[in-house]
Formats: sequence, structure tokens, C-alpha cells
Amino acid sequence: MLDLDALRRRLPPRPLTRFAPSPTGYIHLGHVVNAVWVWTIARALDGRVLLRIEDHDATRCRPEYEAALLEDLAWLGLVPDATAPRQSESDAAYTDALDRLSREHRVYACDCTRRTIALEAADVFGEETRYAGRCRERELAFEPGRSVRVVLGPGTETFDDARLGPQTQKPDAQCGDLMVRDRLGHWTYQFAVTVDDRRQDVDLVIRGEDLLDSTGRQLRLARMLGRERPPVFLHHPLILKPDGHKLSKASGDTGIRELHAAGIPPDEVLREAARRGGLPL
Ligand code: GLU
Repeated sequence: MLDLDALRRRLPPRPLTRFAPSPTGYIHLGHVVNAVWVWTIARALDGRVLLRIEDHDATRCRPEYEAALLEDLAWLGLVPDATAPRQSESDAAYTDALDRLSREHRVYACDCTRRTIALEAADVFGEETRYAGRCRERELAFEPGRSVRVVLGPGTETFDDARLGPQTQKPDAQCGDLMVRDRLGHWTYQFAVTVDDRRQDVDLVIRGEDLLDSTGRQLRLARMLGRERPPVFLHHPLILKPDGHKLSKASGDTGIRELHAAGIPPDEVLREAARRGGLPL
């Protein structure tokens, strides 16, 4: 259930939300579900939408996907109120945030590979393997080829999801020490998104339920980075296929460009996304 008045009371006037796609493929109806949630709630609250291109993973993101995404959004009539710098242009902000954690002795270098982690892992949380902390006390030097992790520490994070109600998460028990930068030097999703939501003063994060488990760790990290007032979170339903999987670019689910090329009008695409994404407004 979504109580818009209650949500409004938790936010400043003209709240800022964001649409934060990763240009790793052509967009499909699942992305439009997120977009209609973001734009509809923003309009209902007299808020603003920030467009942020999340291209932190240089191995998967491509400029042609970004160009296609912008074209598809324009075709759908979804116009952002502002545009944030791309994550690939935000290195200085991430470096500053890492320096802060480093000064407080919260980070360490790690030479674990997926294989060593899988061998050591005692706990699996959902589909995620918890990092057991093998490198935490090793005092390895920060060098190329090593990742950087932050110690999240024990304890519980609670938040009141605007749609799902009160949530309790134990970030450390879910993921262990969180990776900030990977072995190839790429900033991770969790880190980049937390730094950006803070520095861009995002008031309201609207995203799919697949990211619900990320919220506790992002709240924890944001506090470590000095954020005093956390954003409000709203996690919306995802479109699931009959086999229970999400739509995905990789498995070739119908893209918005194909619907466009097939002559389907944008309003119909938006209506279908709102219906299948359970938008109550
Ligand atoms: N960039 C992420 C994605 O494409 C969304 C991040 C977020 O909303 O926190 O799934």
C-alpha cells in the first residue's frame, strides 16, 4: 500500500528523486516500470526527477546504450528536471569519499578472488555470498589488482519503506565487508550510488524490490560518509516472467525500441508498464 500523504509528510517541499539506469543494454519494459513509478510519484508530490547515468562498470556500459536510452526516454515523454554527472565522470567524488573512510581506518585492501571467497564462505544470504573478512587484518598495501573493502560493522538498520512498511536488515550479516572498488579499479554499485545519493541530495529513492536488500548497507555507508538525514526509500514490484525471473536485457526480453518500431504508441507502453508494475496511482 502506498499512502501518498504520509510520504509527503516525510519529505521536504519539491522533493528530489532520481532515475538511475545503467547503460548496459537496450531498455525493456522493466526499466519503464521503474521510470513510471519515479515520474508518477515525483509529479504527485510536486517533486523533481534527476537523471543519473550509472556507468560505474566500464566493462559493461556502452555509449550507444546510453544514447539509445536517452532516445527511448524522450520518445516516452519522460523528461528529467535535472541531469547529474555520469558516474564515469565522478571519480573525484568517489575518491574523496574513500579518503574519508580511509582516514577513519574503515577500509582495507583485499586480494581475494571470487574463488577464494567461495571456498571460505560460510554464509550465503539469498543469492549473495557473504564476505567472511579474510583480508581484514592482513594490512595489505593498496595496489592495482587489489580491491578495497569497507568494514560495515555489526548491528541492525531499520527503515520505513514507503510501500512495504518497516524493514530491519543486518548489513554485515548479509554481505560482510562491502567492496568499494574492485580489482580492476572500478567503483562498485553500492559505493557509487551511496556517494551520489548523498552529494546530489536525493530525498527519495524509488527502485525495484530486487534492490531492497541493498538499502540497509547503503544507509550504513551513507551515515559513515556523514549523511545526517537518510533518503526515504520506496521499493516497487518487478515484472516477473512465468518462470519467476526478472525481465532482462541479457535474455533478450522485448526492448522498448522494438515496441516503438512495431508502431505501439508511447502512451500504451507507459500504461502497460504502470499496470504490470502495480502502480496504484
Ligand atoms: N543503476 C541501477 C540499475 O540500473 C539502479 C540503482 C538504484 O536505483 O539504486 O539497476
